[in-house]
Amino acid sequence: MLHKFKSLIQLIFIAFILILSPVSGFSQSGKPKAVIGIVVDQMRQEYLYRFADKFGDSGFKRLIAEGYMLKNAHYNYLPTVTGPGHASVYTGTTPSYHGIISNEWYDRGESRMVNCVEDKKQTAVGTQTGKGSASPWRLKTTTITDELKAATQEQARVIGISLKDRGAILPSGHLSDGAYWYDGTTGNFISSSYYKPGLPVWVDQFNQFKLADKYLNKDWRTLLPIESYHESGPDDSPYEGKLNGKDKPVFPYILSELRKTNNQYDLIVSTPYGNDLLTDFAKAAIDAENIGKDNITDFLAISFSSTDIIGHAMGPNSIEIEDTYLRLDKNIQDLLQFLDKKIGAGQYLLFLTADHGVGENPKALIQNNLPGGYFNTGDVLKGLKLHLEKFYPGMDLIESFSNEQVFLKSETFSEDPKTASIQVALTSEVIAQYLRSVNGISEVYTRQELSVKGSSANAIHDLLARGVHAGRSGDIFFTLAPGWSTVGGTGVTHGSGYSYDTHVPVIFFGTGVRHGASSAYHQITDIAPTISTLLEIKFPSACTGQPV
Ligand code: ZN
Ligand code: ZN
Ligand code: ZN
Repeated sequence: MLHKFKSLIQLIFIAFILILSPVSGFSQSGKPKAVIGIVVDQMRQEYLYRFADKFGDSGFKRLIAEGYMLKNAHYNYLPTVTGPGHASVYTGTTPSYHGIISNEWYDRGESRMVNCVEDKKQTAVGTQTGKGSASPWRLKTTTITDELKAATQEQARVIGISLKDRGAILPSGHLSDGAYWYDGTTGNFISSSYYKPGLPVWVDQFNQFKLADKYLNKDWRTLLPIESYHESGPDDSPYEGKLNGKDKPVFPYILSELRKTNNQYDLIVSTPYGNDLLTDFAKAAIDAENIGKDNITDFLAISFSSTDIIGHAMGPNSIEIEDTYLRLDKNIQDLLQFLDKKIGAGQYLLFLTADHGVGENPKALIQNNLPGGYFNTGDVLKGLKLHLEKFYPGMDLIESFSNEQVFLKSETFSEDPKTASIQVALTSEVIAQYLRSVNGISEVYTRQELSVKGSSANAIHDLLARGVHAGRSGDIFFTLAPGWSTVGGTGVTHGSGYSYDTHVPVIFFGTGVRHGASSAYHQITDIAPTISTLLEIKFPSACTGQPV
């Protein structure tokens, strides 16, 4: 009798505990245990539609079915390239504030091109090649990851991973616990002394598995029978690039052979196995860094890069890119299942987006009677110099002609600032006038003209103004006409302010996210304040976006 009574008390006690426990799906505070930020390098929104019939139910389709999708989200500045893309997603602002104006740009102080994450004060960690002298020091505003660190007295774990250094460094911010990226010379994940003097034990152990070798011993064959890839063009296309050692840009890709002619470990980034390798690394990071283990929200920023490398070489209409996305769908599925198991379904918040879209091959456009063309930068510079010779004989006026900008050589102008500003204005106008006459150039602005307030949120003038940083950018700016690009041979590129480059997927999923979709226009800078609002933390320092 007494025994029975005891068990009844136990039962009541257990029931009481259960009632007091937090509702399943939420951590004690109602906040997610972790945020997983996924950037897919070069992913267009249209891939979600075009490849939909071949996606499984548990990858991209699960994110859409359970999450909230913005169908009309765009980059709201140009150039649409990787460094600025990652910086803008995580800072909620544009290059005019965060200062990452391109992947590389001409630096007047150093009189050379600089990379957005290179940092000579740092040394490489985990490699001898020097690819690790990097940090986020050129990023001029805080990120959502920085703000999460600040809000938790740095108790949140923040990690960034990617095949590319900038894809790992910029998202994880200034206060990051670690950023890791792939070293094509050794096949290892490496880092920089900015974070730690040496690699953590788990990264060392991961590198010792030599998974890159495992993948490079496989061949790349299409996931499904190649005849079923109706969503793409022919495999053997004149617009696709060939890997060294291949006569034609066609399946199968025998990697054990091709690695001999394609820099060994570098080859993996040109195959979908680069994304597989990063997925393995993400799982190792979640385990070893205890992401989502306690009630303080952690942050893992993942950037898949193989999509961009394959995309550049093959283009958006290739079977190679379709197959890469079918395989990435499996990576997403794998990652979601892992997160469900380790952190718990509904207990993490995830977003997926891209750092930019991509254009078409100019020759392919022309042959299909579509508008576009090849822009030869070298020829245009030659023409511009000849033109200037007529007005300013023997004078060296151009310091750099890069990133569709002209940097004037300040030493050439008067030492008196008043005179110099008139000279600069005149010269800028002469250059702008010439550029306006060049076939393939659509719009030209001098610094003065760009500072005049524009009319509409997505007019090229405004996109350009938001992409320019006062202390870093040039003096005259131009943009190419729709469909025009600097790709003269095979392959494609991105960087413009047109929809093929600006329109990217944005999906929120998990803790605090209702199911739904919106076709309203949203800008890429809305992602960061949306995450801040869900986490109930401060917005990044120069945030210009609005929570969705
Ligand atoms: Zn990119
Ligand atoms: Zn092909
Ligand atoms: Zn790219």
